[in-house]
Amino acid sequence: LEASTRVLYWFRTDLRLHDSPALHTALDLKPDVLYPIWTWDPEYVFAHKVGVNRFNFLLESMCNLSESLIACNAKTKLHVIRGPPQTVIPALCSAWNITHLVYEKDTAEYAAVRDADVKARVLDAGVRVIDVLGHTLYDPQAVTDAHGGKATLSISSWRAAVKNLPGPERPLPPPKHIPPPGKTDLPSFSRTEHPASAYHTVDVNAGEREAEVTCYDTFAGPRGDFGIPTLDELGFPPATTSIRGGETEALRRLSNYCQDAERVATFAKPKTSPAVFDPPATTLLSPYMKFGCLGPREFLWRVRDCITEWKADGGSKNVTPENLEGQLLFREMYYAAECAQGLSFGQIRGNSICRFIDWRLQNEYDESGRKIVPRPLGDPVDEARLAAWKAGKTGFPWIDAIMRQLRQEGWIHHLARHSVACFLTRGQCYISWERGAEVFDEWLIDWDPCSNAGNWMWLSCSAFFSQYHRVYGVVSFPEKFDKSGILVRKYCPELARFPDKLIYSPHITPLSVQEKAGCIIGKDYPLPMLDEKVEKERCIGRVKAAYALGLYGNHSAALDGSAVAM
Ligand code: FAD
Repeated sequence: LEASTRVLYWFRTDLRLHDSPALHTALDLKPDVLYPIWTWDPEYVFAHKVGVNRFNFLLESMCNLSESLIACNAKTKLHVIRGPPQTVIPALCSAWNITHLVYEKDTAEYAAVRDADVKARVLDAGVRVIDVLGHTLYDPQAVTDAHGGKATLSISSWRAAVKNLPGPERPLPPPKHIPPPGKTDLPSFSRTEHPASAYHTVDVNAGEREAEVTCYDTFAGPRGDFGIPTLDELGFPPATTSIRGGETEALRRLSNYCQDAERVATFAKPKTSPAVFDPPATTLLSPYMKFGCLGPREFLWRVRDCITEWKADGGSKNVTPENLEGQLLFREMYYAAECAQGLSFGQIRGNSICRFIDWRLQNEYDESGRKIVPRPLGDPVDEARLAAWKAGKTGFPWIDAIMRQLRQEGWIHHLARHSVACFLTRGQCYISWERGAEVFDEWLIDWDPCSNAGNWMWLSCSAFFSQYHRVYGVVSFPEKFDKSGILVRKYCPELARFPDKLIYSPHITPLSVQEKAGCIIGKDYPLPMLDEKVEKERCIGRVKAAYALGLYGNHSAALDGSAVAM
């Protein structure tokens, strides 16, 4: 046994076989046995309220990965272990005589702390630990170091930081063969070593409800076969999204998108329409990037090759950051910024890059600075506005359609995210970006700790972007893209029969037209919950005053709440 190489390969942010530098490193060890595992991380299910669509996507991606592993070796599969990695992994290393633990590096603060803990525990037992970058094009830590330890707050600062770093290499092919796992017997573990997992679910029809608690008696699951759980087993209702998970689907989507070389080469994000949804104007690859079903280098090089081919035909391409490659750079920028800031990146408190704006509804913190979940109710008017925004019942069809699309599909276009985030924060409602980010955390399939918090700070003018006088109109903005209101008609069907010119402001429609359309505003669809123009001016004034104060989230006045209320 001593002479053999026994690898535990821990899948996390890399549910794929193509271009997986970590998996290649594991296979380069020429292991006698390789156990491909996934463990439930309680952080994922306890600290985040994860909606059914993200869970569904994850389970589908795991199934697809397992099938691909089996195609490489009929004796293997993805082994799902029920239990937190800090407990499970040391136990498995000892039960299966593991010599090497290999995984894809995750620099996001929570994961980095968790991994350091797991690493320390198994190193003690003599296991070698190898982590390899693969989730981003550049190592966020190397970018941070090159930027003097500071967060990259713009694409140009990010570019300057990566200037002397090696650029992304071409992707690696998927392996053809994977060694089998060894025996999978387990000693019995007691309940206390293996806490039950609780899952929050969202019942889209009946509203939210606290989910059931699912207990497993063994690490290996109820059937004892390390099988992938079903949604039903986890206590979820069926998913509502049409977005399918998995590496196979990711590669199919990428190929489909790249078939139109002109579209790839001339891609200009601000010109893509948020009102187009079937298929969307952008790639809809973010969920696959989030779970690592698609490697970033695969994405980058397919796009680059596509553009090279197009240029050979004489076409003229668009440039970063508007083009597709530029989109990947925004992702890199947020990853590097999060790496520099650590856990405070996801909140205002203690966050030195986040301007302190005295939002009406903020998260509450206890004396040690930990977020209070659930937080106490805030001002009832603001809470009601937040609830209406979340439910897609603000009385502004553009906002409502987007929020309903988000809830149903788990994905919305970037400019749709802009619209609803701006509306909730500095545009009209003046509610903290943290509260909106929590809703995105629950409902987005592609939710990501770096991209979500980073973009919410951007949209609320808390960091990255500061032009707070530029507010998205809830009528004028969608009219630029879609005069006939296709998105609204799809997701707010009660408005489907309104005339084009009133689709974004149905409350000013004459009663006779409302009757003809079969929808009375104020009864069948809400009246606008606020005066868009009045609130916009108030918001701009408040943010301007906050900018004048010049406080940041780590300022003591921001921490103890003594900043001047506006
Ligand atoms: P494409 O336009 O096709 O872009 C290709 C890829 O580039 C995307 O798949 C994504 O991986 C990356 N990308 C594009 N734009 C951005 C961006 N602004 N920031 C980071 N990466 C980007 N993206 C997430 O992946 N997870 C999130 O949690 C998330 N939260 C957001 C919250 C708000 C308030 C806003 C305004 C944006 C958020 N985004 C998030 C960024 C962006 O909206 C999505 O990545 C993009 O819309 C996904 O659609 P796509 O795959 O069709 O993008």
